This record gives sequence, C-alpha cells and structure tokens, in this order.
Amino acid sequence: MHLVMIGGSDAGISAALRARELDPAADVTVILEDAYPNFSICGIPYYLSGEVTHWRSLAHRTVADLEAAGIRLRLDTTARRIDVPGRKLLVTSAGGEEELLSYDKLLVGTGAVPIRPPISGLTGSGALGPSDGVHLLHSIGDTFAVMATLEQAAPASAVIVGAGYIGLEMTDALTVRGLQVTQMEQLAEVLPTVDPELGALVRAELAGHGVEVLTGTTVRAVTRAAPGQAGRLHVQATAPDGSAVTRTADMVLVVAGVRPETALAAEAGARLGVKGAIAVDRGMRTSLPDVLAAGDCVITHHRLLGETYLPLGTTAHKQGRVAGENALGGNRQFAGSLGTQVVKIFDHAAARTGLRDHEAAPAGFDPVTVGSEADDHKAYYPGSHRITMRVTGDRATGRLLGMQLFGHRHAEIAKRVDIAATAIYHNMTVDAVSDLDLSYTPPLGSPWEAVQMGAQAWTRATLRYTDG
Ligand SMILES: Cc1cc2nc3c(=O)[nH]c(=O)nc-3n(C[C@H](O)[C@H](O)[C@H](O)COP(=O)(O)OP(=O)(O)OC[C@H]3O[C@@H](n4cnc5c(N)ncnc54)[C@H](O)[C@@H]3O)c2cc1C
Repeated sequence: MHLVMIGGSDAGISAALRARELDPAADVTVILEDAYPNFSICGIPYYLSGEVTHWRSLAHRTVADLEAAGIRLRLDTTARRIDVPGRKLLVTSAGGEEELLSYDKLLVGTGAVPIRPPISGLTGSGALGPSDGVHLLHSIGDTFAVMATLEQAAPASAVIVGAGYIGLEMTDALTVRGLQVTQMEQLAEVLPTVDPELGALVRAELAGHGVEVLTGTTVRAVTRAAPGQAGRLHVQATAPDGSAVTRTADMVLVVAGVRPETALAAEAGARLGVKGAIAVDRGMRTSLPDVLAAGDCVITHHRLLGETYLPLGTTAHKQGRVAGENALGGNRQFAGSLGTQVVKIFDHAAARTGLRDHEAAPAGFDPVTVGSEADDHKAYYPGSHRITMRVTGDRATGRLLGMQLFGHRHAEIAKRVDIAATAIYHNMTVDAVSDLDLSYTPPLGSPWEAVQMGAQAWTRATLRYTDG
C-alpha cells in the first residue's frame, strides 16, 4: 500500500503521521515543493517580530523526526499531474527531472495561496515584488523574503494592506520591531471576523501602540516613490468619502486573505465546491477514486452552516488526520468546524467561535446577540482584567450559536472561547452553560466563570425580550 501525500504542511503531514501511526508498515511518501516540511506557518509573525529568534524553531518536527516516523520526504519536488485511472502522479524534482510515482491512495494537501488584490503595481508585467519591499506572506520562502527586507533595507515604516488576523499579527510584529505601521482596511472596521463593537476595541489597541489605522480605505496602487520622498514606496488609496489617501513607506505587506490552491485536483477532474475549494465528503474523499484531500484546499464542513470555506490550521490538522486514517481503508469522519479562532494584538486578544447574527440568520436561526462584561478573576485580587463578550443564541430554541470575546492577553481569552466552542459542539443552550461545573479560585476566576456571566446576560436580555 503506497500512500502519497501532496503538500508538506499541516494537512499533508498530519495525514502521513496518522497513517504511519495506524500502520507502521504503510509506505508513505510526502511530496513538497519547498524544503520546509511541517513548519508552523502560524508562527511566522513571531519570527519576523524577533520574538522567536530562529526560523528553524518554527518546525513542528524536523526532517529527521519525520523520517524517524517512517515518512519518505521528497523535498523541492512539485506534483504536476494526476493520472487518476492509472493511479500515477507526475512530479518534477528540483533539478527539473520528471518522474511518475505510482500510488494506491493519494492525498491532495496543496493548501491555499495568498490573494493578490487588484492593486495597480501588484499584478501584471513589471509588478513590484520582494526586491522592492512589496510582499505577500504565506510560506517559509515568503518569510525569508520579508526578513531579507527587514534586515537589509532596515525599513522605518510599513503599510499593511488588510486588517484580518494575519494583517493584525504582522502589524503587532513590525511595530515590536520598531517600524511605524499604517494599516489600511477596505471594510468599515478592523478584524471583520468579529462584530464591530469588538473590532473597535482592537482598533483602540492598535492606536494605543502608535499604529495609524485607516478603515474604509481601499488601496488602488503601489508605486516606487519619487527620489527625495521619505519612503521607498508610494501607496495610493481611496478614503470612505472618495477622497485620495497617499502614504509613503519603506515596505508594503499585502495580507488580503487566501484562496484554495486547487489547480492540480481540478485538472484531474475533481469536483469543486464553495469558493472553488475541492469538494470532499466528511471522510475527506474527493469525487475522484482513490484521491482524498484535506486542509486549506478543500471545502469546510461546518457544524452549524453545512458546507463553507474556512481555512484554519486547526482544521487542516484534523482533516489531515481523518484523511490519513481513511487512506488506509478507515471510515473516520471530520466532525466539522465552528471557525473557532483567536488572535493576539499587542497586549490583548480577540476570539470567536460559532456564528454571528448575519451568519446565523441565513442558516435558518433566529439569532440574538447580547454584549456584556465580566472580570477574568475576582477584582479584589491584583491584576484582574475586564473581558468584553458577545453571546449569540437562537431566540426560538435558546441554543448557543456563537461567542466573541476581547480582553487582556493574560485573561485566558483563548481558553474561554474554547468553553463556548465545546458547548456549541454539544448543541447546548445558552442557559445550560450556567450549569457547567467550572473551576474557581479568586486569583484565577470567579464563582460564576466569565463565560457563564455572558450566558446569563444573554438569558436575562432575551427573557425581557420575549416578555415584551
Ligand atoms: C502568517 C499565518 C498565520 C496563521 N495563523 C494561524 C493561526 O494562528 N491559527 C490557525 O488555525 N491558522 C493559522 N493560519 C492558517 C494555517 O496556517 C493554515 O490553515 C494551514 O497551514 C493550512 O495547512 P495546509 O496543509 O492545508 O496548507 P498550506 O499550509 O497552505 O500548505 C500547502 C503546501 O502544499 C505545497 N504545495 C502546493 N502545491 C503543490 C504541488 N503541486 N506540489 C508539491 N507541493 C505543493 C505548498 O508549497 C505548501 O507548502 C495562519 C497562516 C498564516 C500564513
């Protein structure tokens, strides 16, 4: 049984490790187009900030660890074409030699690639690139290019295009490095994956650390600055009122989301689904015989929404594990995502799980979101922090649908959103969250855990609501 995994990141390596774990005799090959298998790309911002001192530290496992686990790695090798009926994969090695690999089961884990928005100067012939200080960010190769700019050009200023979680992490990272950062976001508030009430708190955190935040601002063009101007690059944008905004900066980082990398699977005839991602069943099987797929290149089964596209590292690991098991003939199912995520912005963190109102309503729910605040631990014990919460529940059934939190980075925001994620996973009502037996000691919590206080605020507000 020869299993071939394409892609050496979260999905491909998780699948390979699971297959070897279940069958130590399985013949497992991972094909990857670069030389950096199993790197934590989620950690890139912390290497670029200087907090993680060596890029090698970002490896979940080393090449030696993976080989010791019985995985054959084909580094610097690109998968070119899948011959589905013949169960063969055409690959090209770094030297350009072509080779046909036979497989019994194939896993496509080609991931995602950064979106290059339609900004003049970023596309077409003569597009600006890393040597000009203009960067996209996804791979370890991209990371080396950003680091080269930081070390060799010693930029004093940066424009970051996009204020999603990666854009925010990079703003934090570059500010920590001493750059003056301007963040441009075309939507009305930063971190558009949470409600604007929490986005405004994130924006205040950015402003408090000297970041210039321009929302409702669409970047139109990036050009080389004229000689004599302060920075190397000139960024032109349009403000919400239609007026022109211009900034000069020494580097520009474009972090405007990702799209699934599906060319290989699509050319082989795989059915595509939401956002052009590879359609898979809950067992991570594609429409092609003996071909599975997992990670950022596939659609996401969401526990409340059905099929969507929600690329996250946590999900890629789980899907890869399912695919690795099923490649051996198993029948594991991916249980589904809730889009649970958290981001650190300087001294604070923002997190969400489940649905917000505008996502829940089209899915047939009758959502109500109630905001509240609580202390992370008893305020009489030094060092307590306020947590801002937004709980979303279904008015008709009382079911917990979603939760968003913002608070100090030491206020256990991540683990608190995980309580909500666990409750939503098990279809709990908002009211039942109060019944959970959670831990308490004054330096670390309260008799009513903050998440339970958020749930009670929702129950009180909706009681009043129905009482008219
Ligand atoms: C800066 C950053 C921070 C992030 N932070 C978080 C976080 O905090 N939490 C979280 O949950 N997620 C985070 N993510 C997202 C997370 O990293 C991805 O969801 C996850 O890495 C997806 O894994 P994957 O294996 O599906 O795809 P990818 O990581 O995209 O890997 C796919 C791999 O396949 C290779 N490949 C593609 N085509 C071929 C081919 N034809 N032949 C050979 N190889 C090929 C690519 O080179 C790539 O290495 C972050 C992402 C970035 C970029």
